This record gives sequence, structure tokens and C-alpha cells, in this order.
Amino acid sequence: MSESPKGMSRFELEEALRQQGCAVCRLVERAGSSYLEYLLYDLVNDPDVQKEFRASLGFCASHAQGMLEKGDGLGVAILYRAAAKELLGRLSKIPDAPRSRASLAGLLGRSTKAEPIIPEPGEGCMVCDAERQAERRYLQVLLEGAEDGSLDNLVKGSGSVCVRHLSRASAVAGGWLPSALIEATREAFGDLESDLGRYVRHSDYRFQDEPWGKERDSWKRVVARMLGRRRV
Ligand SMILES: [Zn+2]
Ligand SMILES: [Zn+2]
Repeated sequence: MSESPKGMSRFELEEALRQQGCAVCRLVERAGSSYLEYLLYDLVNDPDVQKEFRASLGFCASHAQGMLEKGDGLGVAILYRAAAKELLGRLSKIPDAPRSRASLAGLLGRSTKAEPIIPEPGEGCMVCDAERQAERRYLQVLLEGAEDGSLDNLVKGSGSVCVRHLSRASAVAGGWLPSALIEATREAFGDLESDLGRYVRHSDYRFQDEPWGKERDSWKRVVARMLGRRRV
């Protein structure tokens, strides 16, 4: 196995494709969680990290929740103290009156496109950025492996990617998809579509006595396959 970052990504992707659920979702989530831990345990006093953290007033809601779940009060306190200072600085710079001559009531009644004077907390979240980079790296490795055929068995086996990541892969590939990925998705959705049909059929009184099979949880499986693990 290659020791290069790309070789490592390929190895991780193969491992993830052997498990249930979207391989890219799983790897991206893991990359985000590792980066979050690295930030909290090693980088809270790093000036560049603090600068970026201040600019976004912290993490997005999903990563802030992940951070709280790790239970590291000290790391959170140091980072969010920096964000609190940033917010206080910005609040002190807001002018007393609206910039425009128009009355505030007039402004409020209109839809304006001005930038907010205080950033929305989590816009530009650092963990989201790290996840986007990881996602792009894994999608490239997936596309290469699907294109040269070396990942065909895994892609056509239990391994899969959700449709959200299939869509993103097609964008990374410049508006195209390798046939192995198309085939695997077509097969999965053909199966889901008929399971959903059977599920709906049970609601018809004429078929109410038919025994339930694997269609029982198809309404959950189709959402998981469409969106993957994350809902953001
Ligand atoms: Zn996914
Ligand atoms: Zn985030």
C-alpha cells in the first residue's frame, strides 16, 4: 500500500465501501470529527485558528453540537471567548442611526440585500471547510477507481454512495459519471422503487393480508440512500 495521502485515502475508501451506507458520508464525517478534536485539543491557542474562529463567530450548528458532545469545556471556553470578544467589538462599532436617510420603518418594510453587520454564527465554519476538502479528496479517489475499474467490485457490491454524493461526484468529474457508479445506483433504486411499491400496496384493502417482507423499512432506506448520513 502506498504511504502517500492519496494511497491512504484510497485505502480508507476501500474500507468504507465494505460497510453499509454511503462510504463518502462516513469518511467525511470521520474527517470532520478528527479535525474538530485536533482543533479542540491542540490548536485552541493558535492565533490563525482563533482569527478564523472569530470571523465565523464559531462553528455551524451541527459542528457546534458535535463539539459540545466531546465535552471539552476548556477548549470550548478558549475558542468561544475569542468569538465573544469579536462579537463585542463588532457591536460597539454599529452606528446609532440607520445609514440610510429612509426611516427604519421604511427599511424594515422593504427587502434589502445589505450584508449583515454581524456575521451569522457558523457561516464559514472551519470544520465544514475541512469536511469539504476531505469530501473532494475522497470523491476524486472514488471517481478514479470507478473509471479505471479498480473499485468496480466494491462499488457494485454492498458499498455505495448516497445520491447527494453521486451528484457531487458528477460535478467534480465535470458533468459526467463512470458507468460503475451509474449501474450501482440504478440497481439500488430499481430495488427500492419496487419495495416502495409493495409498501404502498399494503395500504390497499385487497392486498392487506399479504405478508410483509423487506419492504417494511424501505421508506427509511430510500431517504438514507438519497441523502446519506448527514442532513445538511
Ligand atoms: Zn453520502
Ligand atoms: Zn460546520
